[in-house]
Amino acid sequence: MRILVANDDGVYSPGIAALAEVAAEFGEARIVAPDVEMSSAGHSITASRPLSYKRTPNKKVEAYRVNGTPADCVALGVSQWEKVDVVLSGINLGSNLGNAIWHSGTLAAAKQAALMGLRGIALSIPVPKDEPDFEKLKPAVRAVLKVLLAEISHPLINVNFPNESPQGMVWTRQAVKFYDGKIVPGKDPMGRQHYWFTVVPLTETEEGTDLWAVERGYVSIMPLRLDLTDERELINLQKKCPLDTVRKPSRISRDPARRAEQELSAAGIKGSSSR
Ligand code: MN
Repeated sequence: MRILVANDDGVYSPGIAALAEVAAEFGEARIVAPDVEMSSAGHSITASRPLSYKRTPNKKVEAYRVNGTPADCVALGVSQWEKVDVVLSGINLGSNLGNAIWHSGTLAAAKQAALMGLRGIALSIPVPKDEPDFEKLKPAVRAVLKVLLAEISHPLINVNFPNESPQGMVWTRQAVKFYDGKIVPGKDPMGRQHYWFTVVPLTETEEGTDLWAVERGYVSIMPLRLDLTDERELINLQKKCPLDTVRKPSRISRDPARRAEQELSAAGIKGSSSR
């Protein structure tokens, strides 16, 4: 199994090193990650300048750094390394729960894999104070990969580890009721007004959601889909507010000679083709 490992924290993050080391137990692993931190880059791609990659020293896993976004890294990595089976993204220093996944570069890397017809798995852990103890987390990462790599074929999965040693693993759905992004005003040293787009911790959580599971000390594993269509609302809107019906494309030729031939043919008269 060929496993491409990406992230949004950058190629030198301890999270990607830990993930790649555990991934290497399951197959051939290779790191392709941004050369600088790209957290909250979402699913942006670099279309205005060329991308390049450089070999990066890493004792245990072959690694490359890219002057691009997490999604760029996956697209480039997959194009330059044949037959990648699965893309792992993370382990992100910071949770990717609830509505936060819209901003996440970690999840975008996994999503890029899914867009390219591969499997993508994003993995994240909260960072309340110090850096997480990745050595201690490795058995939990191993347990997750054992299930997801061997038994599951779903194309897009979001995994979040809890703060402490996990109690177990649970399937979850996305917590969408509350949003944790907030604009906080402040003053710079010159007394000028500025604003921080920051994250406020959510306290209220609904049972069965990713946030709920992680708060209770479980690893949250959530299957996601690429199709964002609101199916129920689509049917509702088609009834409530009917719009136009798309007509079948006309097969009548714009070429007058050909059209005359078609008309004759439609009338049951076989036209004599000069061609
Ligand atoms: Mn990050």
